[in-house]
Amino acid sequence: MQKSLSRKSLAEIKSIEDFELKGRRLLLRLDLNVPIKDGAIQDETRIRASLPTIRFAIDSGAKVVLASHLGRPKSPEDKSASLEPVAERLRELLDQEVILVEEPKSDVTKALLHTLRPGQIILLENLRYHPDETKNGAKLSDSLSSFTDVYINDAFGASHRAHASIVGVPERVKEKGIGFLMKKEVDMLSQLLTSPESPYVAVLGGAKVSDKIGIIENLVDRVDQFLIGGAMAYTFLAAQEIEVGKSLVEKDKLKYARELLGRMEARSKVLVLPEDHIIVPQLTMKDHAKVTPSSAIDNDWMGVDIGPKTLLRYSRILKNAKTVFWNGPMGIFETPEYSQGTFGVARAIAESEAFSVIGGGDSASAVNQSGYGDQVSHISTGGGASLEFLQGSPLPGLEALRH
Ligand code: AMP
Repeated sequence: MQKSLSRKSLAEIKSIEDFELKGRRLLLRLDLNVPIKDGAIQDETRIRASLPTIRFAIDSGAKVVLASHLGRPKSPEDKSASLEPVAERLRELLDQEVILVEEPKSDVTKALLHTLRPGQIILLENLRYHPDETKNGAKLSDSLSSFTDVYINDAFGASHRAHASIVGVPERVKEKGIGFLMKKEVDMLSQLLTSPESPYVAVLGGAKVSDKIGIIENLVDRVDQFLIGGAMAYTFLAAQEIEVGKSLVEKDKLKYARELLGRMEARSKVLVLPEDHIIVPQLTMKDHAKVTPSSAIDNDWMGVDIGPKTLLRYSRILKNAKTVFWNGPMGIFETPEYSQGTFGVARAIAESEAFSVIGGGDSASAVNQSGYGDQVSHISTGGGASLEFLQGSPLPGLEALRH
């Protein structure tokens, strides 16, 4: 039963293992969009997660062309978005040459592509240096597909976007499929939608209720409890007429929050809200941080994290859960003084026996930073993509591989 949704999601989609790769030109679309600061990679999770598929391609004797986007460069002159640091890391991890080339359509690249030998690797420079990538322009798709015998999409984190390398290229290539990372992501996330074991707890946080409405609606019939943290919580508290001071509230979502709370009550499901908070008079006044005695926040103060009573309650619930999904930090965890709730939840999930999936983005980096990354069942490499998948939306990157 658990597998049925992933079977449906992946129906008619081939895997890299289904193709003859020896001596053939393989375009491998990866998500190598890693955070880079002053030329140094801050988190290489996505690079490492791509290695099994790259290694399989090399071992199969394919002529390997890797492609990815990085950040949101405005022009090719923006060298801070170059994939060079990624190429360098790949050279170290694979212990072989990875040639970074600038232009899929330049003569130099064309010549290189023709002389590429089985097992050799080219990495195309940041696809977003071409305006065609995000616009799904025909020129880039034509040029990428012109040297491609087999196209494999292993870029789960980019597959919710209808970009040239995600949908334009597979529309033009006959032999196409997914890599090992994509398969793992879809398998793991599917388990959260199809017969998850109860108690099933979804922890949702982050800045806005509006970003999470789709996922709340798709999970509301499946989960036993929602644990709410982050700024999202203040909108739900304000919807119940509880004072939240200067905390971030989405006024235009108060009605939705009230209506959802009513629906949850009617179905005897529980949406748990913080019963205490860490508050400050201003974001910069960390030294003034204090704990509230209850869920109310005084005028002129703002909530920046869940409080210790809330963390204890959430931790107890998580320890008894059998299935857990987490997306969105419990507070402004980028500031160490406001990070205890987020790291505490990461720890509680790690210590729980539950099948646990972390939905990418900030929660993934929080789990990794907390040192508990290897104690959860799965950390998704795609924040937006995992949310869209759990919202029940078809991913354009998967749809493009069906026929
Ligand atoms: P999201 O992308 O919606 O998951 O939101 C993540 C962001 O929410 C992080 O950058 C957090 O700093 C921010 N955040 C979490 N809690 C709060 C809060 N209490 N007030 C303001 N921002 C918050």
